[in-house]
Amino acid sequence: MYFLYFRGGNILVIQWGGFMTCLMHLFRFKIIFMFLLVCRCSVGMLFAQGLNIESRYSPLNSKRSPRKSTQYIILHTTEGGGKGSLNKLRKYGEAHYMLDVDGKVYRIIEKHRIAMHAGRSMWNGQTNLDNISIGIEIVGYHDKPLTQAQKQALRELLRQLKVIYKIPDDHVLPHSMVAYGRPNRWHSVSHRGRKRCAMLLGRDDYRREIGLLSKPAFDPDVRSGRLKVADDYLNKVLFTVIPIPVAIQEQVGATMIARGRSAWDIAKENYNSPGTVYIFPNGTQKRGNEITDWNKIPPGTQVRIGEALPEEEQETEKVQVIGKDGSSAAEIAGSAISRESTIYFTTDGQVKQGNELSAERLLSLPKGTGMLVGYVHGGVIRSNRRSFDICGPRWNLPTTFYRLPDGSIRSGDEMDERSIPLGTMVFFQP
Ligand SMILES: [Zn+2]
Repeated sequence: MYFLYFRGGNILVIQWGGFMTCLMHLFRFKIIFMFLLVCRCSVGMLFAQGLNIESRYSPLNSKRSPRKSTQYIILHTTEGGGKGSLNKLRKYGEAHYMLDVDGKVYRIIEKHRIAMHAGRSMWNGQTNLDNISIGIEIVGYHDKPLTQAQKQALRELLRQLKVIYKIPDDHVLPHSMVAYGRPNRWHSVSHRGRKRCAMLLGRDDYRREIGLLSKPAFDPDVRSGRLKVADDYLNKVLFTVIPIPVAIQEQVGATMIARGRSAWDIAKENYNSPGTVYIFPNGTQKRGNEITDWNKIPPGTQVRIGEALPEEEQETEKVQVIGKDGSSAAEIAGSAISRESTIYFTTDGQVKQGNELSAERLLSLPKGTGMLVGYVHGGVIRSNRRSFDICGPRWNLPTTFYRLPDGSIRSGDEMDERSIPLGTMVFFQP
């Protein structure tokens, strides 16, 4: 449940309205605030499965080209605190996401664009992995375990990205596994071991905690002779196999297709549901509803039951506010800043779409401006045009927003269709 009272409107009332109106509004604000406090716990529980994610796009974001393919996810540790790291990563566009110690995720470069995070890198003969990977910076140190909140959030972020880009677990790699160095005064040949970034996430036990069940068994570039090992300790951390405890082994075995154990034996009637995911031995994934030939599933295929459908980085939808969710419109909307589908609630009470505002205005929108990104402006409620006529069954979704004539904004799940005032504007996700 969300309730957002418009500060801009409030300030106007205080300036022009009488003292009483001002008091009344303050009183209302207080009630709303208490209401928010009461709702917080239930909202927290409701979205425990989701991500606490926020856009803090780098000023370089729109200049970065889209990637042609996405084959890997590279994990990094910032080797420094959250605030300084966020500033630096944004300034140079050095990651797609930053994961803070409290589990909060920041978007820095849009996930389809190239971020400069891997530097001199090579894996399986391919170099410059920035062009084929997503980079996640974890606030922390290469030799310290993640916080509990980080493990939970990273597991969810990885789950979503793995589904979106069809990335198998053994293509989620710590930076130290793929970074390499050119010959220097200590090493006469190109070598692995240029840095130890995120090295603990090469360990089986730490990987399991973030939902990764496999990893490369060896370094393909060392094996082929392209690189030499220059850091024995790192090599040991990354490639020593830590045996999986028997209990987990059994659990994994029971969900693996084998002779005498079919998809139906494992998933029962959900065998062909979209919530059942099949991970083939070669790493590709398919959902139950995408499989046509059930006789062709190879032994060794993992079956995951009850997986959520891929929603793009599902999150708590809300009106984002400049000065709170980002320091500018560009930071919040990224390349969508001037699109029709970006809605602006200006501090002087206007509602505009991105294409209606000049570049100059877009770049100078003040703090307190509200924004919805990726929305349809459904127009206003009239006596012969109710919310259902405008957006159909979406009318009461928490992601649909209503701007009432008094300037306040409410989400669909708070609305009673019969009592929405005429003149209320409706915004919904297509
Ligand atoms: Zn790194």
